[in-house]
Amino acid sequence: MRILFASSEAYGLVKTGGLADVSAALPTALRRKRQDVRLVVPGYPEACRNLVDASPRPGPDGAPWQIIEGRLPGTRLPVYLIDWPEFFQRAGNPYTASNGMDWPDNAQRFGGFARAIAALARDEAGLDWTPEIIHLNDWQTGLVPLLLDPERTGVERPRTVFTIHNLAYQGLFPASTLSELGLPTELWHPEGLEFHQQLSFMKAGLVFSDLITTVSPTYAREIQEPASGMGLDGLLRARGEVLYGILNGVDYSAWDPSRDRHIPVRYSAEELSGKAANKAALQRRLGLEPDPEIPLLGHVGRMVEQKGMDLIHAACTPLVESGRVQLALVGSGQKDLEHASGALARTHPGRVGVHIGYDEPLAHLLEAGSDLFLMPSRFEPCGLNQLYSLRYGTPPVVHATGGLADTVVDATPEALASGAATGFSFTPDTLASLTGALERALALYRARDDGDWAQLQRNGMTRDFGWGTSADAYLALYRQWAPRGRRRAAAGSAL
Ligand code: ADP
Repeated sequence: MRILFASSEAYGLVKTGGLADVSAALPTALRRKRQDVRLVVPGYPEACRNLVDASPRPGPDGAPWQIIEGRLPGTRLPVYLIDWPEFFQRAGNPYTASNGMDWPDNAQRFGGFARAIAALARDEAGLDWTPEIIHLNDWQTGLVPLLLDPERTGVERPRTVFTIHNLAYQGLFPASTLSELGLPTELWHPEGLEFHQQLSFMKAGLVFSDLITTVSPTYAREIQEPASGMGLDGLLRARGEVLYGILNGVDYSAWDPSRDRHIPVRYSAEELSGKAANKAALQRRLGLEPDPEIPLLGHVGRMVEQKGMDLIHAACTPLVESGRVQLALVGSGQKDLEHASGALARTHPGRVGVHIGYDEPLAHLLEAGSDLFLMPSRFEPCGLNQLYSLRYGTPPVVHATGGLADTVVDATPEALASGAATGFSFTPDTLASLTGALERALALYRARDDGDWAQLQRNGMTRDFGWGTSADAYLALYRQWAPRGRRRAAAGSAL
């Protein structure tokens, strides 16, 4: 099947979060299943530098962009970079300038990216290739199903699949953007593109795509409820029949302690002893006291409200003060959370180690060297770090929400006895509830000579969350929806 996979980031080219991991791994897994998948990403400077076998070719006649064709590093996956210098050739992050603020022209940048994707879909650039399926990801690609809408263009289009990786980021812009981007003004109403007097790129994707997916079954249910729907639950309920939850997978060629190049000593479920040396290395790296016995709690992630960093600080401070745990934090994001983390490290030297910034090798060492991985996210569409920590024998402590609820089995006495337990989960997302889960985890860790702790580690390490299963699920959906004569999504008529 011919599939065009469109994303604003992809690991190997440019990455800010989990979207990049998925956008590299899923197309690669589909290619391994002999599908003709091609990836399209904006031509940021970093992506242009990292592309393998790069060769430029012209865009459509008169277009202000060209295509740089190449391959994703380490794979045979074909990539098209949209080389639009005005929009993408600038230093900084794909979405924000170096001062942390969104680029002021993000609507134009990703509106332009969407137009380029639509042009590729119609083969206006003369690639001699048209997709049967266009798989779109998050708001940055949300306009594509609208731009290709057969009811507006009068032309058949490939089936469009729109995946929500995080409903919290919707691509909202001032009302005036609608006409600036030349979008149909008759769509300016709440059933169209308007979201509380703002233009929503996400809504364009949700309303006009044939099929919607999100990254875990529980998150697919949660976002149809007012409490988690971020104002879009009504629309998502209306489209409930074409909304599917498919769990993300893990790229075990990058995230497996038995072959991880970033950690000093490799280990596996059969031979766990190497984990201790990684703990010692992590303690050295973050300036923590060398102590093989003390439980080391770790966290890596974007430092934003969603991830519950404030809960981590509040729950761990008394444990650190009483000398019961060490804490290792790696991440960057909101300045207030970065400062609070730095302050905690300064108040507790040798017991709290913090690295502010993005550091891939350190993220691997933290997964390998910690005893417990903390993930008290307020909401979590899928989450990857808890899956990594399972494979690294670092039981995760998670708020039972979204993908965390789907992937971590709480260590109740029954689940421990049956061999199903893989970590610790708690709800609601309160300090008392997190503290309760931590106390349960620390009690099991203290009694580790009994063998339950090692069993818990091995249970998690031997679970398989590889991309194979997820890729099969996507492929089944694509096949079910591939063009077979003209067919409109049920709720599309709600327009
Ligand atoms: P999200 O997509 O919400 O950021 P996920 O858990 O799905 O969260 O994915 C986060 C990805 O980004 C993981 O691969 C994680 O290791 C990585 N990551 C996040 N922050 C950092 C950081 N500061 N240093 C290294 N890797 C990071």
